[in-house]
Amino acid sequence: MGLLSGFRNPHNLPVKTCAHCGRPFCWRRKWARSWDDVKYCSKGCKHRAQKTPANICAAASVEDEF
Ligand SMILES: [Zn+2]
Repeated sequence: MGLLSGFRNPHNLPVKTCAHCGRPFCWRRKWARSWDDVKYCSKGCKHRAQKTPANICAAASVEDEF
């Protein structure tokens, strides 16, 4: 599994890439119901993403399809 080398995912949880900072983050229990809608790794990123234009730190690949 070399897809996300360097990223720890000991429980094989689903992983997404933050639409704001571009970092991988994995499933959390608080997102159990809304995982499909989760786009950001943290509240901070969500907040900043809404305040600033999306392409300010254009992540290499933003997966925005379901
Ligand atoms: Zn983020």
